[in-house]
Amino acid sequence: MKDTNKLIIANWKMNPQTKKEAEVIFNKISIIVKSQKRVEVVVCPPHPFLFIKDKIKNIKLHLGGQDVFFEKEGSYTGEVSTSMLKNFGVEYIIVGHSERRAQGDSNQTINKKILATIKASINPIFCIGEQKRDNNGFYLSFIKEQIHSGLYGVTKSQMGKIVIAYEPVWAIGSNAIREATPVEFMEMKIFIKKIIADMYDIKIANDIRIIYGGSVNPLNASSFLKEGEADGLLVGRDSLNSKKFGSIISLAATL
Ligand code: PEP
Repeated sequence: MKDTNKLIIANWKMNPQTKKEAEVIFNKISIIVKSQKRVEVVVCPPHPFLFIKDKIKNIKLHLGGQDVFFEKEGSYTGEVSTSMLKNFGVEYIIVGHSERRAQGDSNQTINKKILATIKASINPIFCIGEQKRDNNGFYLSFIKEQIHSGLYGVTKSQMGKIVIAYEPVWAIGSNAIREATPVEFMEMKIFIKKIIADMYDIKIANDIRIIYGGSVNPLNASSFLKEGEADGLLVGRDSLNSKKFGSIISLAATL
């Protein structure tokens, strides 16, 4: 059964620089979340700041990792495992973010990370998105390939754990070429559901949560949620500003 509460995810990336600042932002978000119903909020801080969930206890505020390695343990300098993240209370992990892909994560690596995440009973936030659009629709084949490879070996019964985040690379971050429109998101959502229906079945395609990410802010958030019918949002820059992120959470809770 599909969860109809909007899923609002904060991706702090490599920010902020001190644990004190991380605690302050997390605490402010925690206070906002306490007063909201019908919205699910996940904060994905850098790994060294995962301790904040233990410090600022709030069962309504969920914790996410920004990445994970697929091996269980061993000689993998700089990597973290699913069990380490789980130990900190992580319930979601961003996998396949375009900034990780730019650092070398291939579709095959991402697939291994998704399988490892599911095995640890954690929900993968599987990021997909094209670098640019073209008039011949090659970007659609690119998205299809990302989905096919990323979900290779994921069974029907495991699909309930997957959240797909459509993040067109051209609309992400301070180098964004332009904002995406809710209609562009909606069209992509239909396309993704068709691929999932062909790979699995209609019910799984209907139930899967597909969220939008890329320059989301308090001014455009509701159009992606309402007109675009996004199941949630993945917020980068504006998730570090508790006021802006708080207003995105509040408007998502009213839908
Ligand atoms: C992101 O990188 O996931 C993202 C959505 O960033 P921003 O909101 O800053 O574009």
